[in-house]
Amino acid sequence: MARARQTAMGREYARQLRGETVALENEAVRSYVDRVGRMLAAQMPGPQPSWEFTVAEMPACPAAQEPAALPGGFVFFPARLLAASRNESEFAAVVAHAVAHEVLHRMPVAAPEGSPAIPLVMLGGWTSDCRGRQSVPIGFAAALKKQEQDADALAWKALEAAGFDPRAVTSSVQRRVDSAATDAQRGEQEERLAALRALETAASPARQDSVEVEAARAEIRRFVEAQSPARRAPSLVRAKQP
Ligand SMILES: [Zn+2]
Repeated sequence: MARARQTAMGREYARQLRGETVALENEAVRSYVDRVGRMLAAQMPGPQPSWEFTVAEMPACPAAQEPAALPGGFVFFPARLLAASRNESEFAAVVAHAVAHEVLHRMPVAAPEGSPAIPLVMLGGWTSDCRGRQSVPIGFAAALKKQEQDADALAWKALEAAGFDPRAVTSSVQRRVDSAATDAQRGEQEERLAALRALETAASPARQDSVEVEAARAEIRRFVEAQSPARRAPSLVRAKQP
């Protein structure tokens, strides 16, 4: 029953988020993300929800450093985050981390003493970068941190089992340290990096990117470009005129 309530909550948040984001409607992207997401989810514990993966421009989360993974399997990936992936394992690492959050939503999180009970949906996967929308009681900071590290550890194992290079989790988090907009964001990602060092394993063989990821990423990058015409350096065009 608790599970049904969580799924209903996830569905409602997903409905709200759909209204605040611009979804990328593209069959190649949809089918690739869906396939990778399900492949990674199959390596994680627990029953599978009916996944619904969406790639979108997410102005509600300006930092766009974290996918929104809602209970019930509704996952929103910031297009910019996927567009920034350098290879297929990094792309999969972002997907794996989000899927892991959904798995973790089903596990109980102890409330710190004296704190009010808050919905699990608020822990990890959404609030981490959308702080302006919902505030989390301060006592939950440690639980949030633990959720990020647990999600990374689950993602690591699933990537390895599915044939991706798990070290891509580390390189994709490193990218977020480098591109963090605030000290708080940088600090959060640095703590993830520190925990990831304990997971480093022997080098796995280099992997060739698939045709599918190349097509999907190219499509996502075109979409990101179309969302932000102001970023296409109009000053350069103007500079050429007499
Ligand atoms: Zn996370």
